[in-house]
Amino acid sequence: MNISEQELEIFSRHLILKEFDEAAFKKLQKKKITLIGLGGIGCPAIQYLVSTGVKNIKLIDGDIVQKNNLNRQLLFSINDIKKSKAVVAKERLKNINPECNIDIERYNINSKNINDALNNSSLIIDTTDNWKTMILINRYCVKRSIPLISSSAIGFDGQVILFKNKPKNHLCLQCIFPTNKEPDISRCDSVGIAGIAAGMTGLVTAQKALNFLTNYKDDNYITMINAKSLKITNLMIEKNKKCRVF
Ligand SMILES: [Zn+2]
Repeated sequence: MNISEQELEIFSRHLILKEFDEAAFKKLQKKKITLIGLGGIGCPAIQYLVSTGVKNIKLIDGDIVQKNNLNRQLLFSINDIKKSKAVVAKERLKNINPECNIDIERYNINSKNINDALNNSSLIIDTTDNWKTMILINRYCVKRSIPLISSSAIGFDGQVILFKNKPKNHLCLQCIFPTNKEPDISRCDSVGIAGIAAGMTGLVTAQKALNFLTNYKDDNYITMINAKSLKITNLMIEKNKKCRVF
């Protein structure tokens, strides 16, 4: 696969980085990323991944754009209210790189559609911030050894975790939160979410995805972001031998 003239121009500032040559770029372009949830984290994450050269994408979101999304979901504008998020996001992302291939699914993930929705992914990014959906996706990815990035944000705080899901040696969301019940934590619709915190979490998600896809070293840790203090902290995480994911 050759890089087109147009793509060489779009990504020229990235390609001249000494850490990122044409071979790494071509490798990146062959990967397929599935992003679930076009919210305050998913929008900036996928925007920056397309801007970095990710070319094969699937977007999954059954929601429509609402006015209260506009403080943090910057793929959408006031003219998009009531339109499908997946449809609008595809249009905007195509404006960044017209040559990227974007499939969309206009539904939310459940146990019946998950197999059709998520197969053939090099990496899945879950930004749904919905516990029931998160553990469903987690289980699916562990069982099929598909790498997963799980990201969420509330108030001024965000967290991003990469689960590599290597065969027979998993470390997953339920190793860290060993419960099927939703943890008793605040939700964005009750305590709010700072647009910049969601944005920063989205960018950390994109960089973590890029690091993984280009084989940059990434240990098992949870990356915690606080937008107000501007602190980013990495905490080591460990596999739980009693994990009940299966
Ligand atoms: Zn586990």
